[in-house]
Amino acid sequence: VKDQPGDQFAFFTPQLRAQTLRESELEAQAKKALARGEFEVYVQGKVNIQQNCRIVGGECLARWIHPEKGLIPPDQFIPLFEHNGMITQLDRLMFEKACAWLHDYLEAGRPPINLAVNVSRLDLFQDDFLDWYTAVKRRYAIPDGLLELEFTESVMLKDDQIFLQIVEELRKRGFICSLDDFGSGYSSLNILKNLPIQVLKLDILFFRKSVDIARERIIIRNILTMAHELQMKTIAEGVETAEQVEFLKAAGCDIVQGYVYFKPMPLADFDQVLQAELDQ
Ligand code: C2E
Ligand code: CA
Ligand code: CA
Ligand code: CA
Repeated sequence: VKDQPGDQFAFFTPQLRAQTLRESELEAQAKKALARGEFEVYVQGKVNIQQNCRIVGGECLARWIHPEKGLIPPDQFIPLFEHNGMITQLDRLMFEKACAWLHDYLEAGRPPINLAVNVSRLDLFQDDFLDWYTAVKRRYAIPDGLLELEFTESVMLKDDQIFLQIVEELRKRGFICSLDDFGSGYSSLNILKNLPIQVLKLDILFFRKSVDIARERIIIRNILTMAHELQMKTIAEGVETAEQVEFLKAAGCDIVQGYVYFKPMPLADFDQVLQAELDQ
């Protein structure tokens, strides 16, 4: 998040100027898109690798369905949204759509499933953050323990104390709190020491650059052990091969989220995948 005062005094090279123009155009389009509901929830299944390799939940990921450009992935608009504050509107839209789907799903008598959304650091600065999420959860009558909020460690860079209280309060209100992209930043261990988080998400893609797979595995194995001793569940993300799954299973990782099982898909498709699994 670019919120350092110094960021406003960037040098205006011609290249940067062009980029700024493109961004303002994108921004105008994005505002309309939000109003028109051009953002869709895609879901990526999370698979329990320790028991039966069944889907235990899914992560909701935003997709912008542009009328002309088609599907726009988040890396092309999330940074802008985090810069101009639109991220909060998007995150709330995602959460509300997730709750609406989950409500209908449970209403149909289907087995409980866990659904996660991403929460940006900026969202926490809204005075009504806790109350809004709680009100929507209640409006759609979602039972405790099914909705998960994923935070990245950047939320902890400042205001640790506030974030700590927010997590405690969210847990009291029946939300599951998870720490996303663990290990990608630099304050990870400090966070774990202080934060009553329930789930640790480890992005295996961050390890891709490591030259020594044996060393990599020692580190991953020990992070998993540490998380379990701290009573956290563990999710490995970005898992692409069966070999990685084998290793993660042996290392005690609870859940795998990655292309090896599922790519993110529209909610309707996810619904079908769950139904097919149930019919098996
Ligand atoms: P993230 O929260 O870490 O989400 C995981 C990303 O990894 C997703 O990318 C997912 O498609 C991708 N991924 C999952 N498994 C694999 C795999 O096996 N291999 C590879 N190469 N990639 C995999 P996506 O959907 O493009 O989202 C990128 C990031 O954008 C997310 O990272 C998250 O930080 C952000 N984002 C997406 N939707 C939202 C949203 O609604 N709100 C907020 N605040 N951020 C969002
Ligand atoms: Ca996430
Ligand atoms: Ca992640
Ligand atoms: Ca990420």
